[in-house]
Amino acid sequence: MNIHEYQAKSLLRSYGAPVSDGRPVFKAEEAKTAAGELDGPLWVVKAQIHAGGRGKGSFKESDAGEKGGVRLAKSVEEAAEEAKRMLGRTLVTHQTGPEGKQVNRIYIEEGSDIETELYLALLVDRVTSRVSFVCSTEGGMDIEEVAASAPEKILSFSVDPATGYQPFHGRRIAFALGLEGKQVKECVSLMGILYKAFIERDMEMLEINPLIVTDKGSLKVLDAKLGFDSNALYRQQDVASLRDETEEDPKELQASKYDLNYIALDGEIGCMVNGAGLAMATMDIIKLYGAEPANFLDVGGGATKEKVTEAFKIITSDKNVKGILVNIFGGIMRCDVIAEGVIAAVKEVGLEVPLVVRLEGTNVEKGKEIIASSGLNVIAADSLSDGAEKIVKAVKG
Ligand code: GDP
Ligand code: MG
Repeated sequence: MNIHEYQAKSLLRSYGAPVSDGRPVFKAEEAKTAAGELDGPLWVVKAQIHAGGRGKGSFKESDAGEKGGVRLAKSVEEAAEEAKRMLGRTLVTHQTGPEGKQVNRIYIEEGSDIETELYLALLVDRVTSRVSFVCSTEGGMDIEEVAASAPEKILSFSVDPATGYQPFHGRRIAFALGLEGKQVKECVSLMGILYKAFIERDMEMLEINPLIVTDKGSLKVLDAKLGFDSNALYRQQDVASLRDETEEDPKELQASKYDLNYIALDGEIGCMVNGAGLAMATMDIIKLYGAEPANFLDVGGGATKEKVTEAFKIITSDKNVKGILVNIFGGIMRCDVIAEGVIAAVKEVGLEVPLVVRLEGTNVEKGKEIIASSGLNVIAADSLSDGAEKIVKAVKG
């Protein structure tokens, strides 16, 4: 789960990280009061969407020369004007895709004078199963670009969970970033703060791009992006309450309410599968037969008829879906339950695209019988490859 920059900064501030004072703004008429509560002479007005690259992004229907989603203002009035100008419009950045994202919240912040922009991140490194620090002197740009063009400018190392964060980790980062004097001490302290927040709040990712050295020679968190482990949200109630549902894919949101593991993709074949491994294999074989999966969906081991119905509704609500492949192995799950769920769902939402069902395992005969006698136009398949071949053929001809 991701949160907005202003929420991330507020959380990091509560741990003692150096962050500028700022105010979120939800309605245009609040902008002036919010800006007036902050000290100048510089204000920064920032669109709050769950995507990076806002500064270099552009609004839909923007005039030539109009600035992106991060704007500097020299007065309270100007800051309020910029906030009003951005609210409600759609911002397109390289991370939003061409459809962009609607800006419903703005963050107005006290502006900083920047000496240097640096990059810093903490993330869970899957290779070492540890928390890693990643830092670079190339702040303010995409780290992916730096990794491709100048990988030697990135330092990355992991922290031994047995010792946790130690001051030498912070010094290593400070030296790699070219910090000097009191900045080294500030860096050691800030890295400790970030590591503590990362562990305590079950984060998956913490990215500060840029971390800056101000004109006064101090470190400051200028941008902040935090991602949290969704499986840990049950013990992070205050983090969970920061969720902004308008930022999420409505299909994924609906799936999460029914405890379905669903991820929307761009293809044309909707997939309903049980088990993550089988779901991956199903996606692979769809690709092998020349089509693209529209989603990843694992309905879980103990899915009920209601869950299957809901999963079906979510798949069919995707306009890109031109055909559906149901691939279920009935181990814990019984094939007749799946069959009943599929039939119930088809009756409820209708079926406008070809549907191939491949069932295997417990009560498979009963399941097949339920489908065969339903009178619905369902194509039965006997194996994984048979199922993939049939659905691709039904869709592509
Ligand atoms: P992003 O484009 O979504 O990553 O948004 P950022 O918060 O990283 O802002 C983009 C860029 O705007 C930064 O890299 C800075 O160069 C600039 N910027 C942001 N805040 C300030 C500020 O307080 N003062 C100045 N001078 N520039 C800022
Ligand atoms: Mg940034």
